[in-house]
Amino acid sequence: MRKFFLILLCLCAMTATAAGVKAGSVKTLVDSCGFFPQLSPDGQWLLYSPTEATSLMLKNLSTGVVKTVSSNGYPGFDAIFGADGMVYYVTQQRKKNGLIYRTGHCYDPATGKDQVVLKAQRGRVQALRASGGVVINGEHQVYYSGKQVGSWAYTRGDVLYLVDEAGTTRALQPVKDSNGYLWASLSPDGTKVLFEAASHGLMVCDLNGQVVADLGEFLMPCWYNNDYIIAMSNAGNVRLSGSRIWLLSVDGDVCKPISPRDERAVQPMVSGNKVVYSVIYDGVVKQLEMDMPPAVTLTAATGKGRTQKVKKPVSKGDVPRVFINPGHGGHDSDDRHVPTWVIGALDTLHYYESNSNLTKGLALKEILENKGYETAISRQTNYTADDLDLFEIVSLAANSGADIFFSIHSNATGTPNCVNFPLGLYRGWDGKPAVEGSLKLSEAVMKYEYQNELTVWTHNERSRGDWSFYDWGYKVGLGVLRFNKLPGMLSEGSFHDYLPERERLFSNDYCWLEAWNQSLGIDEYFGRKGKFKNGVIAGTVRWEDIQRRDDNQVLFGEDNMKTVNGALLRLYNGRGVLSRIYTLDNLDNGVFVFSNLPKDKYRLDLFYGDENLYHSVKIKAKKNHTSYKNLKMKRDQKPKKKKGK
Ligand SMILES: [Zn+2]
Repeated sequence: MRKFFLILLCLCAMTATAAGVKAGSVKTLVDSCGFFPQLSPDGQWLLYSPTEATSLMLKNLSTGVVKTVSSNGYPGFDAIFGADGMVYYVTQQRKKNGLIYRTGHCYDPATGKDQVVLKAQRGRVQALRASGGVVINGEHQVYYSGKQVGSWAYTRGDVLYLVDEAGTTRALQPVKDSNGYLWASLSPDGTKVLFEAASHGLMVCDLNGQVVADLGEFLMPCWYNNDYIIAMSNAGNVRLSGSRIWLLSVDGDVCKPISPRDERAVQPMVSGNKVVYSVIYDGVVKQLEMDMPPAVTLTAATGKGRTQKVKKPVSKGDVPRVFINPGHGGHDSDDRHVPTWVIGALDTLHYYESNSNLTKGLALKEILENKGYETAISRQTNYTADDLDLFEIVSLAANSGADIFFSIHSNATGTPNCVNFPLGLYRGWDGKPAVEGSLKLSEAVMKYEYQNELTVWTHNERSRGDWSFYDWGYKVGLGVLRFNKLPGMLSEGSFHDYLPERERLFSNDYCWLEAWNQSLGIDEYFGRKGKFKNGVIAGTVRWEDIQRRDDNQVLFGEDNMKTVNGALLRLYNGRGVLSRIYTLDNLDNGVFVFSNLPKDKYRLDLFYGDENLYHSVKIKAKKNHTSYKNLKMKRDQKPKKKKGK
């Protein structure tokens, strides 16, 4: 609905002769590899970072000389200038156990002096502008650039926080059911808050959280003055065509692109009457000059910088935190819908990748929390609004202060040729991840996904760098990994265009098993394999002598044999006490999964047809491990024991 509203707004704006860009004022500041540009308050210095965030560069715009502020700990992407002209930035340090610590720095462009102002801590650490200074906001300790820094705003998960001049914090939730708030800032006059609610768009609220303007699907907003906002649209999503920089008025009268058409402009930032932005992929940094009065410049803090402990940190800080991104959202065109005739169900079932991704994602969240992890997730429902913009997902991940980014998908060849294997993709070249740790994570997760014996694999598991894997441009890769500096990966768990695999993915327990196996890889990455006590027993039940007769279907190995639908399994513990019962579904997948089992020697009894016992097998559940048992039945098999005897 909002889309139409937006188009209407834009049409109105075309006729308005509102203030805008000065004619002929577009200037190139950096030729390539300049992302997240930041212009100093005096307009003399430009900060930017290359694609990998591995360094933070500073260009003197008068002399053209470029200096490296830092090339340690991924200092790129979220550095800012203070009103004092200093550069404030954050670095990340990944320890051997996979935990990330983040440090706050202050760099003086005039002298080149770099100072650690906030020592390493766990969780999110973010440099933010306050009305009278700079705050480096950590979960455990906060740095203030002076005695008083004025008021400021920040977001964490689905809460927007306002901090007033006295340091009193207020928590707001201006929108119901937001997947998270991003890019919050106070208007120059301190009366309004600009923010983006992931899945809801760009908005302005008053200091009580009352929404006063709903501006549409825009990202990375900055105040120009008290009435105007600069923001970007992104072509990475379906809702707005083209990446452009836009001028929006809070009253809704103006909504117009100000960057040239076909330029793919992103990441805008405002300083005085100048707007700088980056052209995506090439990283050309451009500057526009506006012909309207800018906001009054912010004031710098007075007095010495200081740090302060957070009284009640949300987290203990010593357990790993995982950001989970269940791929896609809603049953839209970019989701992969496959109507599937399932013989056992005698019905057409509708496979959507967004459904199985969410089932796996919610399962992984629960499993990891049971294992003592902290988690954050990009969606918990499956509506069109949950199909977040890729910039939103990456920013939510950064905002979560996680140690790893984990995106969940399944794969498809897009051709009649079927294959089935797990594929892990990480940002970077093959064997050379852009962010340290990503390859190790991918290899650990892929190892456990490949150990799954319920499926039939056609090839070994693979871990690939997305820059090598996709040929759609130099260092372009996957949108959800782009500008993402968390160690991370995207798991394409299996191929859903292979019919038997799709039938398995209709089973929530099969999706759960994939998430469990992912958790084993994540445990290995963080060196926590020994920490969880319970295990899993899983397998399939198939006929040994009844073949599937699907016309024109590609079937591999054991998938040629029909599954035993509706069989009953009873699991007895070491003392012979019945501990679980499982009934197989009728969806032709033969899947059974017993989760969360105490370590023990179990007996697994298989019943079929009027509860006759056909199999009784011994199997161990081991600590934090999956034990596999595939069972087979024959058409003329005599039961071991008939019911009631
Ligand atoms: Zn996908």
